Amino acid sequence: MNYRHAYHAGNFADVLKHSVLFALIQALEAKDTPFALIDTHAGSGCYALDSEEAGKTGEYRDGIARLMFPDLRQGGQGTLPSLLRHWLDAILALPGNEHGLKLYPGSPLQAARAMRATDSAQLCELHPEEVSRLRELFARDHRVHVHHRNGYEALKGLLPPKEKRGLVLIDPPYEAQDNEFRLIEATLKAALQRWPTGMYAIWYPIKLRSQVQPFLRWLQHCGARRVLRAELLVRPDDSPLRLNGSGMAILNAPWNLDQMLRDPLQAMARLLAQERAAQWQLDWLVQEQDAAGPSSP
Ligand code: SAM
Repeated sequence: MNYRHAYHAGNFADVLKHSVLFALIQALEAKDTPFALIDTHAGSGCYALDSEEAGKTGEYRDGIARLMFPDLRQGGQGTLPSLLRHWLDAILALPGNEHGLKLYPGSPLQAARAMRATDSAQLCELHPEEVSRLRELFARDHRVHVHHRNGYEALKGLLPPKEKRGLVLIDPPYEAQDNEFRLIEATLKAALQRWPTGMYAIWYPIKLRSQVQPFLRWLQHCGARRVLRAELLVRPDDSPLRLNGSGMAILNAPWNLDQMLRDPLQAMARLLAQERAAQWQLDWLVQEQDAAGPSSP
């Protein structure tokens, strides 16, 4: 367990992951009924961008910081699409960010700030220091429950949530890359048996394209009604030595999620490219054949 998200908070992969999370929560909030969020790999919840860890890599500078040019947020040629603008505004509204971007909230804090009073969150985190920070952060938030547990093992017992609607976010560190994909597949298989209608969002790294293909093929037959894949590559996916891009696979995605994400992905590709033009991909790996019209999550 060497991974610490503090080194990577706010990088280009977080921009994709968390803007998709933002879109999914918006879709869930289209209905008044409460939803549950389950975050299997929660991290510590909030990251100081002036910390030693964040300073060492400076990854956020090629991530969220590139969305911050004033002309992008307030009109002008390169205006941000509204989803990205609202996502960025929510981060800048975090107490501590009054004078600029100092804190980067992780998935649990972004979700908790977007959730309503009746929604709830279950957070799993295995690292003792990260989990104690998480506990401290949510000590007074009765909607949020923190578990010092292996998220893969805990998930089964948390499904289906009593709200019967919601989202499972699976965002592991991929320390042992190949095994992690197989572990996710086994976890999803069991989860879909217990809760076939739940929404599941899985973040995955892209180094070499061939490392990701078996997982994408597995998703095509996983049994979910709809599976959307959203990817952003800031470099060609041909080197196993570095993170060239990342993706989000969303099972039982809202029927219009592709429409919600198209402009944001295009903008991310324009703003976050590192060497040559960045590439993005947004497509349904599984699409309901008998599309009887829009059904909400
Ligand atoms: N989801 C967080 C976010 O978006 O802000 C970041 C999570 S980070 C990529 C992965 C986290 O998973 C690390 O904090 C690590 O300690 C934790 N972790 C690793 N293996 C785990 C496991 N089996 N169960 C729960 N947490 C785990």
